[in-house]
Amino acid sequence: MAAEQNEREEEFLESNIFRKNSFIIIEEVLELSDQTEEDTTMLVDEILHSIFFLGEINDPPYSPDDIFDDEEMLNVLRECYPRPFDLYSSQLPKRSPFSCVLDMIVHLIGQENEREITGTLQELIGQLSRGPKAKHLISFAVCVSQNTEISDSVRYYGVSMSTSGRPPGQIIAAASCLSAWDSHVADAVMTYYPDKTKKSYFDGTIRLPDNIRCQAFKLSDATEVPPCRSCGNLFGLRTTESKEWAYGNCAEAESLSNLLKNEIQVKKQIVHLIGQENEREITGTLQELIGQLSRGPKAKHLISFAVCVSQNTEISDSVRYYGVSMSTSGRRPGQIIAAASCLSAWDSHVADAVMTYYPDKTKKSYFDGTIRLPNNIRRYTELQRHCYNGSDW
Ligand SMILES: [Zn+2]
Repeated sequence: MAAEQNEREEEFLESNIFRKNSFIIIEEVLELSDQTEEDTTMLVDEILHSIFFLGEINDPPYSPDDIFDDEEMLNVLRECYPRPFDLYSSQLPKRSPFSCVLDMIVHLIGQENEREITGTLQELIGQLSRGPKAKHLISFAVCVSQNTEISDSVRYYGVSMSTSGRPPGQIIAAASCLSAWDSHVADAVMTYYPDKTKKSYFDGTIRLPDNIRCQAFKLSDATEVPPCRSCGNLFGLRTTESKEWAYGNCAEAESLSNLLKNEIQVKKQIVHLIGQENEREITGTLQELIGQLSRGPKAKHLISFAVCVSQNTEISDSVRYYGVSMSTSGRRPGQIIAAASCLSAWDSHVADAVMTYYPDKTKKSYFDGTIRLPNNIRRYTELQRHCYNGSDW
């Protein structure tokens, strides 16, 4: 009986904390929204959607009606922001509520004012309540990333996951990978997702160039937090920490994602460790697969006969880029897929070059998109060439 009573009291306390924190964050967001000249409807929509969703998946669940005592405020919100009310029980949000709040604060204060941004976040966090178990809707750290090679370079911010407990954190990390984060960050997180075990068949971890600052601070007292083991594994950040937080939970993920989404140059510098360097293994795996496929007397359905590796030889251990030959059989499917690749998949330089001769090997008189590769680009082709005695290369 006593245990049951205790549990109920705890539940009541927790539910109060979720409601209180939701309410404080929503009020802050509406206030920030008033101070912003631009239309912030989409961002407010996103924050409400994310909070309502976290309420819905909480155990026990809290509906929007549970969150607001104030029926008038609820009605006004429902009228001004109807979308989150329609979506929260059927659609995933894109990211955690606090990440959206951060966006609003950075936008309002200006990315260059790091102290003010951190200060505003600290103030907001200071108003939120912590339960004995749950830490509903609270981010504990902020991270700042920037390119140190450029003076006064843009600062990109991120906050740690503001969910409480394991399933919500995992769901929002996956949702962020799917809809909000840069693909490099998402690939890195997915390499370990969901249970801290590195996948054997996929490695999307990255190594940040040395010229990138990626520095996290506690929101309680603004002291620096060194990268944890997870962030070391994901992004190649140097650390001696052994603490391994859930992958995707730290502020580093969001901050780096914002940097990579905006700084193409940095993205290009990143060395993917997916195994691009394991050329032999990649070629071997392809060969094995091809070896299992059947060849008809005429048609070679769905078989690629060559793999090509390209890389910049001026840089030691430069990234290898792979491609396979067209795996279609016959002329028309090959032409259609080549055109489709030019249209939707290939780099515009390659597409222009191919289109110069497409579809009938005659060079167009009115257009020359062919290119000349620099000498430092290695081009190397192999893969069961000996199986192929076709005449239509
Ligand atoms: Zn970390």
